[in-house]
Amino acid sequence: MIPVFVVLNAGSSSLKFQIFDPSDMKPKVIYRGMVEGIGTSPHFLVKDCDGAIVADKTWDDGEAFGHEEALVELVTWMQTSRGEYRLGAVGHRVVHGGRFFDRPVLVDDDAILDDLTTLEALAPLHQPHNLKPIRILRRRMPDIPQVACFDTAFHRSQPLIAQLFAIPKELTESGVLRYGFHGLSYEHISSVLGDYDPVLKAGRVIVAHLGNGASLCALNKGKSIATTMGFSALDGLPMGTRCGALDPGVVFYMLREMNFSAEAAERILYTQSGLLGVSGLSNDMRTLRAHAQKNPDAQRAIDLFAYRITREIGSLIAALGGIDGLVFTAGIGENDAATRAAVIAGLSWAGFELDASANSRNEPRISASSAPSAWIIPTNEELVVAQQMKRVLSAARQAAPAVAG
Ligand code: ADP
Repeated sequence: MIPVFVVLNAGSSSLKFQIFDPSDMKPKVIYRGMVEGIGTSPHFLVKDCDGAIVADKTWDDGEAFGHEEALVELVTWMQTSRGEYRLGAVGHRVVHGGRFFDRPVLVDDDAILDDLTTLEALAPLHQPHNLKPIRILRRRMPDIPQVACFDTAFHRSQPLIAQLFAIPKELTESGVLRYGFHGLSYEHISSVLGDYDPVLKAGRVIVAHLGNGASLCALNKGKSIATTMGFSALDGLPMGTRCGALDPGVVFYMLREMNFSAEAAERILYTQSGLLGVSGLSNDMRTLRAHAQKNPDAQRAIDLFAYRITREIGSLIAALGGIDGLVFTAGIGENDAATRAAVIAGLSWAGFELDASANSRNEPRISASSAPSAWIIPTNEELVVAQQMKRVLSAARQAAPAVAG
């Protein structure tokens, strides 16, 4: 039986997973799936690597179906209907590694889980959900190795100055820092830059991760030196439903003058702002494009998105001291030619020139200029987790031959 890696991305009501065969140098995805509607109307769906549905199940008694039931369903499905595979190890996408987790970690000790739990205060909307399956599996399947992989870790290579807010030292020392996120995506892009152009691998590159969440990362020789997200995943660019950079005075105004509770203000800035808030229509770029001609608010949301990206890229070019390449990735970055065209048009001062026909065909290289160049590179955060798992487990095996996987 082949021991497989399960890569989990757990949210409040969903459990997304990919199953990898790790036997080759590059782990190969064999199944993708999710349990959504956890706690309400659960739906378990698995597709094979060709996109064919291999499992599809719903439950009526949704309220009794939590994350634990979702995990049991996944493991039982693997053991009963996928006879050639056995669960070798589980990797978890964990949003926050704080100051000290600057690389993935084998969670083989409750003390590590306790350390990760203290970081829940830094990412209360995500971290508790990310940690829940680790806790459940440690209890139910203690022999299965688990690896936590962090969205913040890739940015710990940044110089201290890029991680600081201009606030009193005591606050900084208590952990109020610019952590940055989307690190698994940036690590993937960084690892494949050389496949596209050796100049990118050795040079100064800005990666625009433009999905439902959106941020930029400045890479120097493949290492993060600055990013637009800060203490939380709310900072930087406007996103699907998040506001991006906001004068903190707005928050005080909402609390003091508009009498919002902290929870209500948080909900507005996380879930009712960004493309959705400005357009009043949708957080989905496809919907906004479809309505933009007749709906000025949809057009304004699109314009603000591109404007903010262009301005922030200008700031990161300054941090890098110049630019050799720009990479677009994630849902909007990989698919929305008009956003890419608007951003590149706004960067002509930096020497960028669009290859319009390559851009409209979503080709990897979309610049007519070779220095600086512009690219579309698909991201793959789950693959990074599987690769990190491989490294962590092989290091653990060398240290203690008894570790499985
Ligand atoms: P997440 O951050 O949830 O992983 P994705 O990277 O999948 O998000 O990006 C989702 C967003 O990508 C959608 O909300 C949509 O705005 C955008 N998107 C996906 N496909 C297209 C497309 N063909 N054209 C324009 N935008 C797209």
